[in-house]
Amino acid sequence: MKERVLIAGAGPVGLVAAANLVRRGVPVTVLEAGTDLGAESRASTFHPPTLDMLDDLGVLQPLIDQGLIAPKFQYRSRDGVMATFDFAVIADATRHPYRLQCEQSKLTRVLLKKLMGYPNFEIVFSSPVRGVTAIAGGAEVAIDRGGTTETHSYPWVIGADGARSAVRTALGIPFEGFTWPERYLVVSTPFDFTKVIPDIVSVSYVADPERWFFLLQIPGLWRVMFRVAAEESDELALSEPFAQKLMAGIVPGIDRYEIAHTTLYRVHQRVAETYRKDRVLLIGDAAHVNNPLGGMGMNGGIHDAINLTERLAAVWHGDKRDEELDRFDKQRRLITKAHVQTQSIQNKKNLENPAEFQERLRGIAADPQRTYDYLLNVSMIGSLRQAATLG
Ligand SMILES: Cc1cc2nc3c(=O)[nH]c(=O)nc-3n(C[C@H](O)[C@H](O)[C@H](O)COP(=O)(O)OP(=O)(O)OC[C@H]3O[C@@H](n4cnc5c(N)ncnc54)[C@H](O)[C@@H]3O)c2cc1C
Repeated sequence: MKERVLIAGAGPVGLVAAANLVRRGVPVTVLEAGTDLGAESRASTFHPPTLDMLDDLGVLQPLIDQGLIAPKFQYRSRDGVMATFDFAVIADATRHPYRLQCEQSKLTRVLLKKLMGYPNFEIVFSSPVRGVTAIAGGAEVAIDRGGTTETHSYPWVIGADGARSAVRTALGIPFEGFTWPERYLVVSTPFDFTKVIPDIVSVSYVADPERWFFLLQIPGLWRVMFRVAAEESDELALSEPFAQKLMAGIVPGIDRYEIAHTTLYRVHQRVAETYRKDRVLLIGDAAHVNNPLGGMGMNGGIHDAINLTERLAAVWHGDKRDEELDRFDKQRRLITKAHVQTQSIQNKKNLENPAEFQERLRGIAADPQRTYDYLLNVSMIGSLRQAATLG
């Protein structure tokens, strides 16, 4: 048995887990299926409490240096601004009252650089985990190394291997939920929307019953995410004329954009039936997936990673019994269901029903206490506080 924690997957969630364990003196091996860290353009919004956690890990400043601080976000309709919210309102609840707009591929690189400075850390690329079997005092892990299967045993295994998690599958843990019939198309452009929409802020959601979308600014680019109807084929959705047609709907009179890249995603709402089976634990997309409205997938995954590794480090050092890890499962799984799943589905409905949404926004904006509570929830501080009450 190797006296190390094994983490499958070097995505943002697996590497945050690794960083929190090694700084607490727990030796970690990360196995990554890819030949290098992922470069895909996916999450680009970090919420205030996530920034607090990354700050504690000592990796926030280099991320801020490569990102863009967004103190406000707004909802718009085709007619203009519906409401703008300022995170300064919750400055007493976080050390970072803003969103950071920065791609997740920047975080994984910053984390890996930090981790390489720890002698008790190792990472092995091109090593997909293929199987996990519970054994006495740990788990046996089958690893594919260039076509040959190696088997090693570890006292603890963390599955941070993404939505198609081999760890979750090997343990036979059901991934309950559904897949939306529509897909999402992300179109990135260097076009500067602030020049033509002067009151726009870096995070803007545009409600529309037919074709809602949202605009997210990252350094040098705007990412625009559109809904693609079930009857529109992947081939059509990925064609340049299709992207240009959707983009032409943003600002009247501008019908041609420079497009840096387009990506099409299928979107699911699913939660694993359990996040713990004996000495194997699931975090991040391996444990839950949701639509990207509200930017809660990676953020929630990082919250899982911190919740789990704080407890696992205490168990490793003999300061807590392993039942402590059941609290991780309970807190994070129930909170994902109650907050992330419910809220991300509601966020989608809001954008599809601008009139109803406008009414609700008016009520929230008119009441300082409701505005405060709303911002706590949107920034995921509400979910973390509720998790802590679950015992
Ligand atoms: C378009 C889009 C926009 C998004 N925007 C946001 C946002 O703004 N904010 C937000 O919070 N979330 C967002 N998300 C969700 C976010 O991208 C994911 O929740 C996040 O990537 C989850 O991180 P993870 O580390 O759990 O999994 P992943 O990022 O999927 O990483 C898993 C890692 O495991 C590796 N791996 C896979 N299988 C194996 C195996 N068998 N063995 C070893 N390694 C393996 C993979 O190669 C990968 O490196 C967005 C998603 C999409 C698609």
